[in-house]
Amino acid sequence: MKFADRIARLGTETAFAVSAEAAAFAAQGNKVYPFHLGDMNIPTPVNVMEAAAKAMRDGKTGYCPNAGIPKLREVLAADVGTARGLRYSPENVAIQPGGKPTIGKFFLALLNPGDEVLYPSPGYPIYESQIEFLGGVPKPYRYLEGERTFTIDLDALKRQITPRTRLLVLNDLQNPTGAECSTAEREALAELVLKHDLYVLCDEAYFDIRYDGESTSFVSLPGMVERCVILYTFSKKFAMTGWRLGASIGPKPIIDIIAKLNVNDESCSNHFIQYGAIEGLTGDQGGPRQILSILKERRDLSVDLLNGIKGVHCLRPNATFYLFPNVTAAMQAKGFSDYESFRRALLQETGVSVCSRLHFGRPLPGETQFYIRLAYSGIHLPEIREALARFKAFIEG
Ligand code: PLP
Repeated sequence: MKFADRIARLGTETAFAVSAEAAAFAAQGNKVYPFHLGDMNIPTPVNVMEAAAKAMRDGKTGYCPNAGIPKLREVLAADVGTARGLRYSPENVAIQPGGKPTIGKFFLALLNPGDEVLYPSPGYPIYESQIEFLGGVPKPYRYLEGERTFTIDLDALKRQITPRTRLLVLNDLQNPTGAECSTAEREALAELVLKHDLYVLCDEAYFDIRYDGESTSFVSLPGMVERCVILYTFSKKFAMTGWRLGASIGPKPIIDIIAKLNVNDESCSNHFIQYGAIEGLTGDQGGPRQILSILKERRDLSVDLLNGIKGVHCLRPNATFYLFPNVTAAMQAKGFSDYESFRRALLQETGVSVCSRLHFGRPLPGETQFYIRLAYSGIHLPEIREALARFKAFIEG
């Protein structure tokens, strides 16, 4: 069969392949400790579930407006605007079936073949996939491991910019590193955006998954609101990964195009779930608080245990539910020189299932350190304890 040429350029989220491998290993009767996928084993808050179920019973089961029901657009515009010190109106919001659709729709709206796009690597792999699929030129920028957090290599990023550079993807509160930009980093990026007339996809999937202090949005910087589209998702804050609800939030002309893409793709997002989301945003906030407190305990236990393993060094990110420990010395000690053989051996010997740097975009020239990624959103404390004890025994034994 002959497929369209562009299909050869379509990437994927290879973490799902790790899931399949872990599931096959479990089906053989083995215990698996699932650190590989950013899914959640925490229930959606009850008030959200009840509001959605009531809407279903009330007959909200037909099509709804392509950009979402007016009330959800209104409360989301207010919620996202208030948290960022900005004024958004409902027409700045197009509801989506999840956070992910904003990525492809942003590029469909703004990217011409041959345009260059700056994006993080390691980073969420769908950026690279969609840029290449749509004929863009990928210009990855890297992160450097610092004392307390990972930072963007701004000098290298600047060297990537040419007259063909048109778009920037920024995932502040980042998957997989957990990095949060400093004020200086945000200001330097905003300066580049203005200087080079760039438009920005601000992937804020983890804006509300933070443990201390408050998140700051890149969009709040002077001149950015006209140039940024926010990827918003209900998946993480409300533990709703499988419900599939999110939004694109940004300048009206871009949002109008994204809403037109909705018409062409899915018509509208799930109707009754949008009532659950309204309750999530405006009702009792005990649910999201509880989710954060569960996640924080898991983070602290995981970081402490990982740092107790010889040859493993793990930062303690204040946000996201990911850890990106440096395992270079541990791999060397065990005689591993490539990611996949290490990851597979870890799974087969211990049941601990993780992703590695390889699952977050193509490695860049000159990378000398090795990292794995652990998601602690889908694993309970006793299993974390057991898993990381096995990990330690595997490395040190
Ligand atoms: N962006 C980032 C950085 C993510 O990590 C994810 C999911 O893991 C998404 C977007 C997609 O979110 P959703 O599951 O709501 O589509």
